[in-house]
Amino acid sequence: MILAVSELKNLTSPADGYRGRFAPSPTGPLHAGSLVAALGSWLDARKHGGHWLLRIEDLDAPRCILGADEHIQSQLSACGLFWDEKVSYQSERQEGYLRALEHLNALQCIYPCICSRQTIANTLSSLGIGISRNLEMVYPGTCRPSKLVSNTLEVASRSATAWRLALPSDCIIEFEDLAQGPQSQNLNTQVGDFTVRRSDGVFTYQLAVVVDDALQHISHVVRGEDLLSNTARQIYLQNVLGYHTPQYLHLPLVLDEHGEKLSKQTLATQINTQDEKHALLELRKAATHLGLKGLPDGEKTTIAEWLLAATRAWNN
Ligand code: GLU
Repeated sequence: MILAVSELKNLTSPADGYRGRFAPSPTGPLHAGSLVAALGSWLDARKHGGHWLLRIEDLDAPRCILGADEHIQSQLSACGLFWDEKVSYQSERQEGYLRALEHLNALQCIYPCICSRQTIANTLSSLGIGISRNLEMVYPGTCRPSKLVSNTLEVASRSATAWRLALPSDCIIEFEDLAQGPQSQNLNTQVGDFTVRRSDGVFTYQLAVVVDDALQHISHVVRGEDLLSNTARQIYLQNVLGYHTPQYLHLPLVLDEHGEKLSKQTLATQINTQDEKHALLELRKAATHLGLKGLPDGEKTTIAEWLLAATRAWNN
């Protein structure tokens, strides 16, 4: 099966024109990399006269830091990046994820899996398949039943098992990224059957992001390039669930001196938004990273004036 997004039929469309979002995980304050994603998605929404939503992706409770959501909101506000609707929290949207899981189950395309990461790593190495830190472990299908069935009553109660989506063979997803150009991923050879619910009962990022983008009628997803390799999975899930596929635009990552992506896990320094002068400095750095040119650089420029000029200069 080769799925080109332009060929998809019968999908629901976003209701309200351009709708973008910024979806940080509250695992720490914003750093230079997350500001680039926030600014890029905000500018794209403003340029298109659209709405920009703020969604806090707090499903993975142990990784979340108490108060980080509010800290992120105050950093965004200090930078003049205001959102247009009530902030949403994934932790409050469990119902929608469960319904999607049940839908997948009714379609007979998920199955329970008891493999730990270690079991998967062992199986792959016994098959002579090398594993490296930066590479996805392609699920070898150990728990996949020969015949897929619907497990309706078990989905909610069998929380000690993970649930995986069974991919059809030759599942190749092709799409056009607005910044990175044509993309193609063979989900069978590059990802394998992927999890939609973890064994600890937490819905995975892939399932939650797809459900939220659909329920919030997101038309444009503008985010960091580190998430590009997740997009084919998300498009495939949208297709199975009958959701609209948004436009995707992946922004260049900010790297540290070792060439690693800045992340809260590697304790990247938070942006300094203590006053307007410092916030504007951070915005200017983010804009330079995004390749924006000709923006006002005077000392007296206000954030509002600068953002207006940046919106005009945004060219995607
Ligand atoms: N929550 C994800 C992150 O902080 C972003 C998800 C997305 O934009 O799809 O990296």
